[in-house]
Amino acid sequence: MAKWVYTFGDGKAEGSAAMRNLLGGKGANLAEMSRIGVPVPPGFTISTEVCTHYYTNGNTYPEGLKEQVAAALAGVEAALGMRFGDPVNPLLVSVRSGARASMPGMMDTVLNLGLNDVTVEGLAKRASDARFAYDSYRRFIQMYSDVVLGVEHHLFEDVLEEVKRDAGVTQDTELTAENWKGVIQRYKAMVAAELGKPFPQDVKEQIWGAIGAVFGSWMNQRAITYRRLHGIPESWGTAVTVQSMVFGNMGEDCATGVAFTRDPSTGENAFYGEYLVNAQGEDVVAGIRTPQHLTINGKTRHGSDLPAMEEVMPSLFTELVNIRNILEMHYKDMQDMEFTIQQGKLWMLQTRNGKRTVAASVKIAVDMVAEGVLTKEQAVMRVEPQQLDQLLHPTLDPKAPRTVLAKGLPASPGAASGRVVFTAADAETWAKNGEKVILTRIETSPEDIGGMHVSQGVLTTRGGMTSHAAVVARGMGTPCVAGAGEIRIDYKAKQMRVRDTVVKEGDTITLDGSTGEVMLGKVPTIRPELTGDFGSLMGWVDEVRTMKVRANAETPLDAETARRFGAEGIGLCRTEHMFFDPARIISMREMILARNEAGRRAALAKLLPYQRKDFIDLFTIMKGLPVTVRLLDPPLHEFLPNTEAEQAEVAAASGVDVGAVKAAVAALHETNPMLGHRGCRLGVTYPEIYEMQARAILEAAVEVSKTTGNAVVPEIMIPLVMGKIELDMMKAVIDTVAKEVFAAAGMTLTYQVGTMIELPRAALRAAEIAETAEFFSFGTNDLTQTTMGMSRDDAGNFLEIYRQKGVVETDPFATLDQEGVGELIKLAVERGRATRPTIKLGICGEHGGDPASVAFCQSIGLDYVSCSPYRVPIARLAAAQAALKQAK
Ligand code: PEP
Ligand code: MG
Repeated sequence: MAKWVYTFGDGKAEGSAAMRNLLGGKGANLAEMSRIGVPVPPGFTISTEVCTHYYTNGNTYPEGLKEQVAAALAGVEAALGMRFGDPVNPLLVSVRSGARASMPGMMDTVLNLGLNDVTVEGLAKRASDARFAYDSYRRFIQMYSDVVLGVEHHLFEDVLEEVKRDAGVTQDTELTAENWKGVIQRYKAMVAAELGKPFPQDVKEQIWGAIGAVFGSWMNQRAITYRRLHGIPESWGTAVTVQSMVFGNMGEDCATGVAFTRDPSTGENAFYGEYLVNAQGEDVVAGIRTPQHLTINGKTRHGSDLPAMEEVMPSLFTELVNIRNILEMHYKDMQDMEFTIQQGKLWMLQTRNGKRTVAASVKIAVDMVAEGVLTKEQAVMRVEPQQLDQLLHPTLDPKAPRTVLAKGLPASPGAASGRVVFTAADAETWAKNGEKVILTRIETSPEDIGGMHVSQGVLTTRGGMTSHAAVVARGMGTPCVAGAGEIRIDYKAKQMRVRDTVVKEGDTITLDGSTGEVMLGKVPTIRPELTGDFGSLMGWVDEVRTMKVRANAETPLDAETARRFGAEGIGLCRTEHMFFDPARIISMREMILARNEAGRRAALAKLLPYQRKDFIDLFTIMKGLPVTVRLLDPPLHEFLPNTEAEQAEVAAASGVDVGAVKAAVAALHETNPMLGHRGCRLGVTYPEIYEMQARAILEAAVEVSKTTGNAVVPEIMIPLVMGKIELDMMKAVIDTVAKEVFAAAGMTLTYQVGTMIELPRAALRAAEIAETAEFFSFGTNDLTQTTMGMSRDDAGNFLEIYRQKGVVETDPFATLDQEGVGELIKLAVERGRATRPTIKLGICGEHGGDPASVAFCQSIGLDYVSCSPYRVPIARLAAAQAALKQAK
């Protein structure tokens, strides 16, 4: 008989941390904690295989499950000396979801299960607290009816409001046991009226209802959206963990809290967390009561005047600190733990690797190497490459003037400016229209994740460091200020107010998620610091990395940024970008529109000095590092003068009338410019263009070599070739110019001529092309476009639907399509190397900065990747991780 259910508790477990795929993160960690002797309330986990079975067999359970659940439940009863449904000593359980990857708040949970009209009396006696028991029962009815029976949540709120009004009180805490009893009667009547049948009293029916609801919640809209945003496959499924309840709300010797073994914002090695006396878990995260700090240090730092757990419950605090040390040493990573104290006994409910900011992630990895917990290689594997992005972007200039509107908690670091919107839906609409927005809410809930995702920053007026907004924003790397309580939001009027200042929808504000400040207007920023822990980590990254990382850059500013971020050369200098400058574009247009070679040469002569200066600057900044310069490759429409004024300007510059310019523009019009007269086709039809560019490159190389004493070795790259013939023609042009330049300079330099591989035909003919080409650079933007027959400029219109319908998994222009485009690259690598074993191979499409694509480049043995300057550190880390994985 297949095994579907795995028990834990009492210092032993059938599962372990290694069984995460089967038991989900939560189930695996509870099992592991049990195993290593951490006190965990006993329970059992129904495996993810049951979820898969459930969905592939018309929402039915596999054979044997019922029996295995019953046996596991009996085991829990025996361990605790309680019975499920017992009138005197009733066992209560929680039923929770738990997928392989954490999906906080996305799926359903039911607490206090096992309460009914009879067992509630048993609980009241056992706890000597009738009020607590009735409160628990009404919470259960509310949650179960919402999650399992589908009764609208707000109906319960309405009842509760009425009862409070009748009792003349405003707070839940002011209601008596008798009041709660009345609430229960009304809840049950309301549920019966809504559903036409009573609220289930049979505890077995309750537990199976909850299990079904949790499996069902795997397919709710929130979970589906979350999976899409985080790339979690549907096939993983969720596990269901059933665990005995412990109560943090049975009196003043009870508490509940969440803790991080290190500070999740800064990474500092300081125990960090929040708790509430006499409360249930959700009270801490819901932001309804203000949580208190665990440590005196935390309390002092955050300026709280509420007592810390360290002061209120010193011996339990010491026990918690011990468990913190055990768990962190065991998992060798920062943990996010949940605990409950029931009548003086500490229970751990959950531990998992804690979500953290990238700054914290880097600091923790580096510290753990110093502490001897991790090796350098393990530390390198600990940081998510994509996340580094956050560290590379500017932070607020501390010297810049600012008008602080309010201060909240520094929930997720980074600076963000944007226009205020008050709903997640508005955030999505505005962002679609290209607006940068700050999502501003009283508090956020799982429905808001789509809006949070597209926002520059998130601001809430309620909730703590572990509120939904804070946790989710940190995970997304979005700056967040939480709990800015001075701000009053008026959703109806679409505005917020702090004292006399009113901020309306659409007004610009700035958040500093590292200090908690909310500022009016846009505050200037400064460049990030790349030393310290970041520097140490990147040092280790470079030790293990085998692929080089270059940058795509053409301006001096980009080249300098690239150097600062550790680029080892320029892999793609797109020369056409150099001609958009107002001083040059007229000559450029003049050249394109000229009717004959003489006209073109006249315009090119004007461009030559500019172009030479460009390369002198680049070679100087790059200080002898390799620079690949690609000759002109624009689809011509990018340069055509389309307005009357532009046409008049070009006419004046080239001494012809406007009519002639108009006629030339019309003649050059192409239906399909991306597949038109571009790339080396320009060089083949008008060799004088490439001649001028080759001259500019080589003259610049000669000059910089002379002035610096270091020989520059330029790499000249021909775009969009289909085969060897075009390359040979273009190489002949370059070689002729080189001879002239070197003769005039009285010196020679080494230079290389290579090609982009960005058409399928070029990939197929790589063996022949490599006879001439000294290097290949895969232009995967065009290669994706031409292999898939999908316009890189227009694919956005339908790709999202393709993704939703599962035709493609990710955007192939962002993450390389390994099966198709990748296959062509592999083939070109093999064929190219067979002809010329020393051929240098790189990639310079957008994929060069995408971690998954970088890993692919490592696997097929490319020499380097080249990406935009800001992605250079990401590519370095991704390359290091790929090298480590390959070495395993
Ligand atoms: C490419 O096609 O991948 C490439 C790098 O060239 P461009 O994006 O300039 O067409
Ligand atoms: Mg291209």
